[in-house]
Amino acid sequence: GEGLPRPEETRIMVVANQKGGVGKTTTTVNLAASLALHGARVLVIDLDPQGNASTALGIDHHAEVPSIYDVLVESKPLSDVVQPVTDVEGLFCAPATIDLAGAEIELVSLVARESRLQRAIQAYEQPLDYILIDCPPSLGLLTVNALVAGAEVLIPIQCEYYALEGLGQLLRNVDLVRGHLNPSLHVSTILLTMYDGRTRLASQVADEVRSHFGSEVLRTSIPRSVRISEAPSYGQTVLTYDPGSSGALSYFEAAREIALRGVGVRYDVQHAHTGA
Ligand code: ADP
Ligand code: MG
Repeated sequence: GEGLPRPEETRIMVVANQKGGVGKTTTTVNLAASLALHGARVLVIDLDPQGNASTALGIDHHAEVPSIYDVLVESKPLSDVVQPVTDVEGLFCAPATIDLAGAEIELVSLVARESRLQRAIQAYEQPLDYILIDCPPSLGLLTVNALVAGAEVLIPIQCEYYALEGLGQLLRNVDLVRGHLNPSLHVSTILLTMYDGRTRLASQVADEVRSHFGSEVLRTSIPRSVRISEAPSYGQTVLTYDPGSSGALSYFEAAREIALRGVGVRYDVQHAHTGA
């Protein structure tokens, strides 16, 4: 590891945006790998029935594998489903299998349906610096479970037309969950993804996001990179697939920024991928 400061308590970050294709899963797995490579112990919880985060981390998640579904619906301990990620030390994953698609409905009739993930995490005894939760592209009970379990919301925003559209709904849900179920919940981090500095659109969107959110927006943004989109088909994050690529370096830098912010250390730009 690089010896970045570690948080005093486990930071639970909910990666959410009900829009699909904005980079939630990509951000979850690559930030998690980056934090682990910086020396942290990190757990990724795959909360999307698609299981894309599990795939990208090279984690077996066929239908028979013990998964986050069993944790949420069958009250299985989290430790029974967590698997180590083989090529990154300190990185772990609680996979999603296809039966998670039914959980959204099954949870409705269960007791404490909004706080089942929170309880499972509280009962998990392995020491962790970070838990990153990859949410599905909806605001149903799975995402609500993530928002109740975590303190921090990380919103990836794609630098495209209509980038801010629909965010109001997510922010209202964050307010509702904070008001009723989880007083510590807040939007801590906004990350600009698929940023193309050559286009005027990308810098306009970045300006708009920065004036809307201010200091929550990371100074590091993630460029559009073919290496980032190729890595999952090899069951790898871009950090191991092509460590020298711009995509890998920018996620590594975003992780450093997140780690430093978490302990209140001022972040100084070291890297070129700072976007707008
Ligand atoms: P979400 O989880 O929000 O649906 P994904 O992380 O799956 O979004 O990303 C959507 C698609 O965009 C995927 O095919 C992914 O490989 C690709 N992608 C994400 N980030 C980048 C990037 N920075 N550069 C290039 N492709 C990206
Ligand atoms: Mg996804």
